[in-house]
Amino acid sequence: MVNCSEDGLELAAGDRLLRFPAIWLRDNCPCAQCLDPGSGQKLKDITDIPNGLVVSAAEDAGESVLVTYAPDRHQSTFTRSWLAAHARTAFAVTGGRHLQGCYADLDGLASTLAVLARGDEPHSPPRPPR
Ligand SMILES: [Zn+2]
Repeated sequence: MVNCSEDGLELAAGDRLLRFPAIWLRDNCPCAQCLDPGSGQKLKDITDIPNGLVVSAAEDAGESVLVTYAPDRHQSTFTRSWLAAHARTAFAVTGGRHLQGCYADLDGLASTLAVLARGDEPHSPPRPPR
């Protein structure tokens, strides 16, 4: 099950409901416009993300999820396994801290994302539960 809400994306994984803020998804967008396919470097800065970004549509595409943002209609495809792994590292480990409330404050959000990114290793497997 995939849902979009004002806060971003909701994804059912087993008996858990994972939530992903729109701006976090956009900052991690893996498309060729946002991420260099060769180097894996981000081509956009978080400050390039439009103000008031929301997830306008979320489409369940089997093993992946197609996310469409408003107001700029950008699209990202995330695999379910990537989302599930990153929900665990980015949100569960930090005590389930929500980014909600930070949207209006890009500086604060950027530093929050930096904190999250420190525990977030995209190319390593998720840590085993303790
Ligand atoms: Zn993108």
